Amino acid sequence: MNHFAAIREKLNEYGIDAMLLTCEANRFYASGFHSTGTDGAALVTKDETYYWTDSRYIEAAQQQVKGAKVEMTTTGHGYTAFLNEAVERHGLRTIGFEDEYMTVAELKTYQEKVAKAEFKPATKLLTALRTVKDPEEIEALIGAQRIAEKALADICTELKAGMTEKDVAARLTYLMLHYGAENMSFDPIVASGANGSKPHAVPSEKVIEAGDFVTMDFGCIYHGYCSDMTRTVAIGHVTEEMDKVYHIVLNAQLAGIAAAKAGVPGCDVHNAAAKVIADAGYGEYFGHGFGHGVGVEIHESPRASATWKEPLPAGAVISAEPGIYMPGKFGVRIEDCLIVKEGGCEIIHKAPKELLIL
Ligand code: ZN
Ligand code: ZN
Repeated sequence: MNHFAAIREKLNEYGIDAMLLTCEANRFYASGFHSTGTDGAALVTKDETYYWTDSRYIEAAQQQVKGAKVEMTTTGHGYTAFLNEAVERHGLRTIGFEDEYMTVAELKTYQEKVAKAEFKPATKLLTALRTVKDPEEIEALIGAQRIAEKALADICTELKAGMTEKDVAARLTYLMLHYGAENMSFDPIVASGANGSKPHAVPSEKVIEAGDFVTMDFGCIYHGYCSDMTRTVAIGHVTEEMDKVYHIVLNAQLAGIAAAKAGVPGCDVHNAAAKVIADAGYGEYFGHGFGHGVGVEIHESPRASATWKEPLPAGAVISAEPGIYMPGKFGVRIEDCLIVKEGGCEIIHKAPKELLIL
């Protein structure tokens, strides 16, 4: 799977003769090259595509990158030399670059060494394309989620008082790799008891006890695409308040999911969920956004947050993850991912959301 043609089709719209890609996530999205590694650059012109990398990656690039001229950089002949040749060959005057990724120093080098072309900010070309997933990308996202769900099913049979948060995080990592993940999409979050009030807690040596909520937020990468899910389970028993808060979060998530459809501004989806929490009297305990885009990267465009006024496009994949965090007591978050469609959305996640007391 590559997206060279899709990028080429957008060059005119962004007023550029070619698009230069150096960001790892964009290079993967464009080329489908799994071992993109730290070094490499792709250049998409109106009539030719190039993929340049060094000796560490060249063999894999030649095998995996289709629809592009794959060439090897050397000490004496680096990216700027190849770029200058392309400028001459195709008469390139303006080259789009990733202004939200490239460092000021790198841009300066390109401007000095490729003086005949003008470099124009064009990250948005890639952002817009990556926001709307095609069927192959959806398939990879679903594959990543199915792996995470197998890990969840196993951990729910193992999880018990006496384990530490780190034990659980290590098991989740192992299980996702065991079931076919290429990597984690981020370090698993495992937060129990009072630690659960920190939305992005780092797994600690804290021993999980009866009466704790355990929030597990984890995901993996499959075919280059990320999964992201959160489940909060209870150990032994729950208090009345824990039960109540759990169901407010669940109802908030369902309200956000019901509001998510193509054309609806991201903030409206967030507000639908936030209203449920606020109406229940817990508004001050929900401080983050309802959801974020998920794809090649774990956090990408678009957002379903209070400040995101743009409509969600059909084909976007967003998380749905409200939470209530009670400092010093406990926290609850429930997270699925949704495919935004005309008239509604499809939930990728199949794992149950009823309160589970282990
Ligand atoms: Zn998550
Ligand atoms: Zn998330």
